[in-house]
Amino acid sequence: MDKWGKVEMNKGLLLLWGGVAVSLALLALLVYFSLTPPKIAPETLAYFARSQVEKGQAYARMNYLSFVAGQGLTLLVLAGAVIFLFRRGWVPWAGANPYLQVIVFALLLSILLALVILPIEFYRGFLLEHRFGLSTQSLGDWAVDYGKQFVLDALMTGLMIGGLYFILRHWTFRWPLAATVAFGLLLVLQAWLWPLFIDPLFYKFTPLPAGPFKDRVVELAADAGINIGDVLVMNASRQTTKANAYFTGVGRTKRIVFYDNLLRDFSQRDAEFVVAHEIGHWQHRHVMIGMLLGVGGALIFFLLYRLVLAGYGTPAGHPSAVPLFLLSMAVFSLLLMPVQNAVSRTFERQADRAALVLTHDPAGGAGMMAKLAADNLADVQPRPFIRLFMFSHPSAMERINYFEKMTGCTN
Ligand SMILES: [Zn+2]
Repeated sequence: MDKWGKVEMNKGLLLLWGGVAVSLALLALLVYFSLTPPKIAPETLAYFARSQVEKGQAYARMNYLSFVAGQGLTLLVLAGAVIFLFRRGWVPWAGANPYLQVIVFALLLSILLALVILPIEFYRGFLLEHRFGLSTQSLGDWAVDYGKQFVLDALMTGLMIGGLYFILRHWTFRWPLAATVAFGLLLVLQAWLWPLFIDPLFYKFTPLPAGPFKDRVVELAADAGINIGDVLVMNASRQTTKANAYFTGVGRTKRIVFYDNLLRDFSQRDAEFVVAHEIGHWQHRHVMIGMLLGVGGALIFFLLYRLVLAGYGTPAGHPSAVPLFLLSMAVFSLLLMPVQNAVSRTFERQADRAALVLTHDPAGGAGMMAKLAADNLADVQPRPFIRLFMFSHPSAMERINYFEKMTGCTN
């Protein structure tokens, strides 16, 4: 019995601290690859001016480094909390109700983390965007948005960790299954309610005005055989000069959302291609599949976390384990990023293919992509490691090359 206890313990500790070490090594590699951008390929220069590519690389480099700094500090703070607080069995507000202890503990750590990474967030979210001429926000507006986001994140963390502890204390052995089911319900609820209650906290949404473009959107949706829900315009210009569009929601909250910048700055041909791409996500049920994959990921995480807990010999529902849980989650999410991004890139390629079927306009796709990448200062031809780790979409040059190839096919 003793012997097995020891083996179990080693496995759990190895898992956690091995994960921390691998995470730090990956972050170090990200620093290396961020500081050594690739040579600009001649095919890239057919679409972008050299100065444009270099500006995108400079902007991307600082974004990648800010990401590394934020993640690195988060890991160090949480590892410190595990070593100095959890190992001593510390809990805040000793004697209080255990759920309150857990929620207060999670909030205290969230506040500590937010304070530690505030300078990085300020640099990345405000200074960097202004330096590259992408932000339209005053410092006050940025601070209000940041505050709102922080309160929202803290509430979600408190709610999630309170719910998790309820499950941990009621299903002592089968808790990973119960927690996975609860997580799945939360994902559906979030996808359903977010567009209605949370997104409007940050932006105004108005229906796409009637006119030739609206008619074309309805026509494309009819061609695709889908019943289009809302098509909305979001006042992203209050924050940024970047252009984008996205598809979100489930059931009655399904919607395609355009940044007002995209409708203002892009030709109708470009905007049509963007609609067709979003319809492609819809046709392929990417929101639903994404949620199912998320649930699978959650189950794997909870099973691994159970091993970590066993390694420390701590009862799962003990409030002192909050830092252990948050550290495990931070490590898991970071190590899962390449997988998540690979799935996302597959979805994006499917949506591009669907857009070509709908529009028969690969040259338009390539033109739209070139303008979008230039306006958003994209890193158009990243190094493979950066692409693997950081890119939720294929790079601009990959997508342009694909459209070019398809232009050849249709001619
Ligand atoms: Zn997409």
